[in-house]
Amino acid sequence: MILKISDLGRGPRRFDFDLDSAQLGDALGGRSDIDGPRARASVEASLCRRTVNVRGWVEIVFGFECGRCAGAFDGTRRIEWRLVLSPHSDATGPEEEDEGFGYYRNDRFDLGRAAAEHLALMLPEVLLCRDDCRGLCAGCGATLNEEPCRCAGKNA
Ligand SMILES: [Zn+2]
Ligand SMILES: [Zn+2]
Repeated sequence: MILKISDLGRGPRRFDFDLDSAQLGDALGGRSDIDGPRARASVEASLCRRTVNVRGWVEIVFGFECGRCAGAFDGTRRIEWRLVLSPHSDATGPEEEDEGFGYYRNDRFDLGRAAAEHLALMLPEVLLCRDDCRGLCAGCGATLNEEPCRCAGKNA
């Protein structure tokens, strides 16, 4: 999803789009705990002088392996997203693009890629099936959400 800066008029413009699955896969690169992710975004973009303000959300639907009990689950996360874009020619700071700030070049900015990167950054490093997931017993391997520990009688 390429945003053309010159297409933005005076008022805010709304963009609803699906994230490109290849871009999403790239952004989530190392996440072997996430399976079959799909994502979409809904933002409003407005131009103030030469600065573009983007605000809205990104939502991901995915299968995942719980980081504690290793069970397979489905998850959805909707994540707030704000981004301020300046023309690249105005860049005075470091070339590196910070979270929340970016530069557009030649009247264009890849909003889809930025959305995918934002998602990857904001997703918890460890996904849990529920906050109080009890995980696996280190002693007997029991799935403690579903069954009792079998360590009793040993040196538990
Ligand atoms: Zn779990
Ligand atoms: Zn046990």
